[in-house]
Amino acid sequence: MLADLSAADLEAYVARVRADLDAFKARGLKLDMTRGKPSPEQLDLAEGMLALPGNRDHFSEAGEDARNYGGLQGLAEVRKLFSGPLGAPPERVVVGGNASLAMMHDVIVWALLKGVPGSARPWAKEDEIAFICPAPGYDRHFAICEEYGIRMIPVALTGHGPDMDKVEELVRDPAVKGMWCVPKYSNPSAESYSDETVRRLAAMKTGAPDFRLFWDNAYVLHHLTDSRHEVLNILEECAAAGNPDRAFVFASTSKMTLAGAGLAFFAASEANVKWQQARAFKQTIGPDKLNQLRHVRFLRDEAGLVAHMEKHRALLAPKFKAVTDALEARLGDTGAARWITPDGGYFVSVDLAPGAASRSVALAKEAGLALTPAGATWPYGKDPLDSNLRLAPSFPSLADVKAASEGIAICMALACAEVEQT
Ligand code: PLP
Repeated sequence: MLADLSAADLEAYVARVRADLDAFKARGLKLDMTRGKPSPEQLDLAEGMLALPGNRDHFSEAGEDARNYGGLQGLAEVRKLFSGPLGAPPERVVVGGNASLAMMHDVIVWALLKGVPGSARPWAKEDEIAFICPAPGYDRHFAICEEYGIRMIPVALTGHGPDMDKVEELVRDPAVKGMWCVPKYSNPSAESYSDETVRRLAAMKTGAPDFRLFWDNAYVLHHLTDSRHEVLNILEECAAAGNPDRAFVFASTSKMTLAGAGLAFFAASEANVKWQQARAFKQTIGPDKLNQLRHVRFLRDEAGLVAHMEKHRALLAPKFKAVTDALEARLGDTGAARWITPDGGYFVSVDLAPGAASRSVALAKEAGLALTPAGATWPYGKDPLDSNLRLAPSFPSLADVKAASEGIAICMALACAEVEQT
């Protein structure tokens, strides 16, 4: 434990870690662990999809010509294929373009300009609106709020979802219109919401009658171990609690097939889907149905989808192990760092001694290692303790992840020891 060392022992420890860092720097590496992108090997898993549908195979089961305009809600067979993971019947699933983030963005803009079912007026006509943002969280969720002037209220995560006592207190304020949720293998904490968390979110009393949960199930099938997390069905829980319109569910195949050419989904209550479709009708004559057909031809059914995700797991799991092994080896006995060994998702989130996050990133930069900036996982980019860092090991090769993790853990150990000295 660094905190137990005498001043002299701490100084000797710092000198040792600095020497290790110098040795690491001398290797002259240039490595990047900033964004959770699939690796080229993962993208190769879906290479076969690029030749599909092919051979003049362009008709849906209902006989629609996928090359033509139309089909605003998405092909029925695609909505059926993803109905299970989304937790909604096919008639309450919408297939969008390639990015679920774009669907989230548009839903928020439409809510601001038009209101949602249950709104007395468009959200933008309110004096002020706010979203609850479990933190650490996904920087791009926060960026949407910042872009449109939605005040963000950070709420701590507990290891099984947000601090629900705090959330229940905050939602009594009618200005609180929404909440970001990544319910399974959260970005970045990798935690999943417990049954109790989901039930409380579905049933809590909100001041705003048109409050919405933005349920971003981006990692719904992204397991890394045999301990497969399952999260309660939010749409069913909301309906059972008498709040059928409370949840907007989002997901995509960005990290299943091709991150730049996948399919995005929206699922919700009948009233919400009708609302979304009325807005989308003004935006487009229809989505890319050839890509939809390509996905059903390639994945076939839910079993095919799950089998495909196992291939991702085989490529990803060793990289995550390399990260957590390096953290354990270097930081395990310092008492200055905490992390969850992820069972799924795309990130390892590390909480360091307060004040050590930005110093770690600066040290890493000098050593040729690019890390997500400190603070990125917090609303407005401001981590009040300067303690959280998000590591994204999916993209680099396994050898690079091993090398980078070793270097990062050295930087973290040095930063924590320096903080201990002050
Ligand atoms: N939601 C979360 C929680 C993510 O981590 C990511 C990507 O990292 C996305 C959404 C992006 O999804 P899409 O590619 O469908 O826009």
